[in-house]
Amino acid sequence: MEKVKELRVKVKPFLTKRNPKYPDKIPVPMRTMFGYSTRETANGIHMVLKGKPEPSSHCLHCGRVIKHPVSLLYGIGPICGGHYHVNPLESEEELNLRMEEIKQKLANVVWEGWLPKNYIEWEETGGECDPKNEEKAH
Ligand SMILES: [Zn+2]
Repeated sequence: MEKVKELRVKVKPFLTKRNPKYPDKIPVPMRTMFGYSTRETANGIHMVLKGKPEPSSHCLHCGRVIKHPVSLLYGIGPICGGHYHVNPLESEEELNLRMEEIKQKLANVVWEGWLPKNYIEWEETGGECDPKNEEKAH
């Protein structure tokens, strides 16, 4: 299968919480995720998403401001890092050593489904995804 353009998708906080009106719908696990769109309607867009470390001043998981200098480099605050079993890292050297492990852990945070266009922002990252690989990860 062809490679597709990778998107960075930011969702509103309510989309990361369970909605009692739609008990079967699984909430989006992170505020910012990466992936691609498979189809689209006037109001909705169907996405296949996963987590990925990226330098960010706001936590990719919860959207809170990050202050810890090492956390800033991979975009996950210390508390949310704990959710993903990424222990707080003390130095950039330690981060470099553990980056592959962090990438693997976040790549396992997957989500697929329809999102309402009015409550998300998305843009191309300039990278590509390989849909065949994504399927294997499921
Ligand atoms: Zn967070």
